[in-house]
Amino acid sequence: MSKIQAVRGMNDILPSEIHKWHYFENIVKNSLQQYGYQEIRLPIVEKSELFHRGIGSGTDIVEKETYDFTDRNDEALTLRPEGTAGCVRAMIEHGLLRNQIQKVWYNGPMFRYERPQKGRYRQFYQLGVEVYGADSISQDAELLSLIWQLWQALGLNRHVTLELNNLGTTENRIQYVNALVDYLTPLKEQLDQDSQRRLTKNPLRILDSKNEHTQKLLNNAPNLNDFIDKDIQAEFIHLVHYLKNLGIPIKVTSRLVRGIDYYSHTVFEWITDKLGAQGTICAGGRYNTLVSDLNGPQTPAVGFAMGIERIILLLETLNLFPPSPDVTDIYVISDEQSIFGAMLIVEQLRKAHSDLIIELNTTFGSFKSQFKKADKSNATLALIIAEDEIKSNNCTIKFLRKEQNQVSIPLSELHTSIIALLN
Ligand code: ATP
Ligand code: MG
Repeated sequence: MSKIQAVRGMNDILPSEIHKWHYFENIVKNSLQQYGYQEIRLPIVEKSELFHRGIGSGTDIVEKETYDFTDRNDEALTLRPEGTAGCVRAMIEHGLLRNQIQKVWYNGPMFRYERPQKGRYRQFYQLGVEVYGADSISQDAELLSLIWQLWQALGLNRHVTLELNNLGTTENRIQYVNALVDYLTPLKEQLDQDSQRRLTKNPLRILDSKNEHTQKLLNNAPNLNDFIDKDIQAEFIHLVHYLKNLGIPIKVTSRLVRGIDYYSHTVFEWITDKLGAQGTICAGGRYNTLVSDLNGPQTPAVGFAMGIERIILLLETLNLFPPSPDVTDIYVISDEQSIFGAMLIVEQLRKAHSDLIIELNTTFGSFKSQFKKADKSNATLALIIAEDEIKSNNCTIKFLRKEQNQVSIPLSELHTSIIALLN
């Protein structure tokens, strides 16, 4: 049988890389906790209809990117392409939305059948945050401040821009879409292929077209802002002022619409110019109708998702990762006769010093080869507990990172002396 390889676009995260993920996850987790958000863990597989109805059949994700399959019982299932629909499903199912505010976050793999390239994969991780039950623009502001605080904690604040738009209410948007379709229909033949298709399926997305000629035609199209209620426009201006006061670099762009059908009011993307075409590292907005669309109680909602691989790529590009903290402190060397005695001593040492990383070599070999392994582990100390040591109730400590003669200390003093020896 030939060697089996990973599925295209689905990556392994190797032990040598994992500290980067832990670094990001720890910072995010602390911030979210501090802001009063709670973690929710959701299934990776959901019924297909959740996505096909929830995020809209005309969206790119549902049209061409979902992994759909039937299980052995012929049930139509989908690997989640995003987290929001599943989160809403869970909130409704567990009755968590009646007269209360819910602030939750999740982190996990999402699946989309896309053309793999740098920053774009078929399995990728998203950190998502959702707030249910808070309708005011101040909630949008708090969420954006939270993200800004995260960029600051990660050192990314000088490398990102917030692109922001106001889509108005769902009714405003529907009226605008009608006007847009009326304007574009006579020009249909001049639009790019994708936009022609979208004219019937998802017209708002045409604003997002990368085609220059289409963009030119849009210059004379009706303006979304003219369709938005005055009070909502005023609120949006408040939001922009608040964010500018925080020092966030903002670009208000009337062409920003987002790919998923359910958005209204505030929508946003955080962009970096350091990652080429895959420069959006976080995206979200308000979705006040999705909960009721999925047969839940009418509940306002706002949320966002970050692409973790892209953030990690960005942190790597900017050299912002601290060195891995997971370095072995003590490497324990023994021999076949003494290994169980040594293991017992090491277990006690680990209990007494839970913050130390203590590795025990269980494969023996000559002392010379064991010292080589100790050196390769980057440990500060090698601790030898072999036949002689067990007999004499002493252990031997060798300094691997400095010129100092090895020392022998009574086993009974190991717990108390070890910290001084490590420094
Ligand atoms: P894009 O325009 O790059 O395809 P999107 O609008 O499809 O993004 P969202 O559905 O808003 O993306 O997902 C939120 C974030 O998840 C994106 O901003 C991005 O950082 C990340 N993301 C989306 N798709 C992928 C992917 N295939 N691989 C890696 N990260 C992704
Ligand atoms: Mg996409």
